[in-house]
Amino acid sequence: MKELIDKLCLQGMTDSDDVKKIIDEINDEDMEYLAKKAREISQKRFGKKIYLRGLIEISSFCKNDCYYCGIRRGNGKAERYRLSKEDILECCKEGYRLGFKTFVMQGGEDSFYNDDVMADIVSEIRKRFPECAITLSLGEKSYESYKRLFDAGADRYLLRHETANEEHYKKLHPAEMSLENRKRCLYDLKEIGYQVGCGIMVGSPYQTTDDLTEDLKFMLELQPHMIGIGPFVKHKDTPFADKESGSVRKTLILLSIIRILFPRVLLPATTALGTMDPKGREKGILAGANVLMPNLSPVKVRKKYALYDNKICTGEESAQCKGCLQKRIESIGYEIVSERGDY
Ligand code: SAH
Repeated sequence: MKELIDKLCLQGMTDSDDVKKIIDEINDEDMEYLAKKAREISQKRFGKKIYLRGLIEISSFCKNDCYYCGIRRGNGKAERYRLSKEDILECCKEGYRLGFKTFVMQGGEDSFYNDDVMADIVSEIRKRFPECAITLSLGEKSYESYKRLFDAGADRYLLRHETANEEHYKKLHPAEMSLENRKRCLYDLKEIGYQVGCGIMVGSPYQTTDDLTEDLKFMLELQPHMIGIGPFVKHKDTPFADKESGSVRKTLILLSIIRILFPRVLLPATTALGTMDPKGREKGILAGANVLMPNLSPVKVRKKYALYDNKICTGEESAQCKGCLQKRIESIGYEIVSERGDY
């Protein structure tokens, strides 16, 4: 196993069977060896700096019906809300006060935020916080819409591809959605000039190890600037309520492999990882991650943005969340910095 890990470090992914073997057969001792390699690569680029992205969950309305997601259209029990421009600016103001230099606006695909509305919000943030990065995570749009938001001042876009395998994609999404369009979006975003993030849920229903190596191959082809991965966490009011959630262990293995294959990539230790294990985010950083995405949403809406069950950090104010994370990160010898953390 150590030879396979060394080969991965020296030559990249030359043989997907090697990577499959690592994912499926690695034991705890070799996992620590893998994590150590990944940490070294991460520290060589970023030192022990951890970048923050303040997540503002702007809407829980969604026109899509993804089987895994708690805010899918078909979930009649989901509580719906939208943040106004003023709400969003207030979140940015608080985030800025706390030292955030990146604001991520994420939401369901909500037609209320059409290009006019969104471009207006983005340009206002751009004007008021000129040195901050603006990231959007609002799903699939046309080339023209993405271009308009880029021209309004957005810098980055997060759009997980969810799985690079056609068959698997169909098992996670209804027929009106396609992997082809998801990929088209990612290439459009790159062409326009966004820093782009793709990614997957680890342990999503029906995912095989072959699917995971296909995901890695797709990432190698796309060469994203950011890669977001976290465990799949089931949600009680979705078609996947009775499926198993993904494991922290496998997520950590994937984080390390991704860090080794993509030395410069911005790699978050996600909230889903922190939800599945109280020390999940710390473990993620020790496996090679270098980004955290604390919640900046108004506390009154946080429980309503329920993508999955038992999501953490839904009761605290943003300042408390930041303080808590700061302590956690210092406890493992890392440091949260107030920098944009561009690619
Ligand atoms: N509408 C946007 C944002 C989606 S939410 C978009 O389409 O990109 C952001 C991510 O949360 C999704 O891409 C998905 O990978 C993840 N997610 C959704 N449901 C989840 C679940 N049950 N468990 C873990 N992650 C989930």
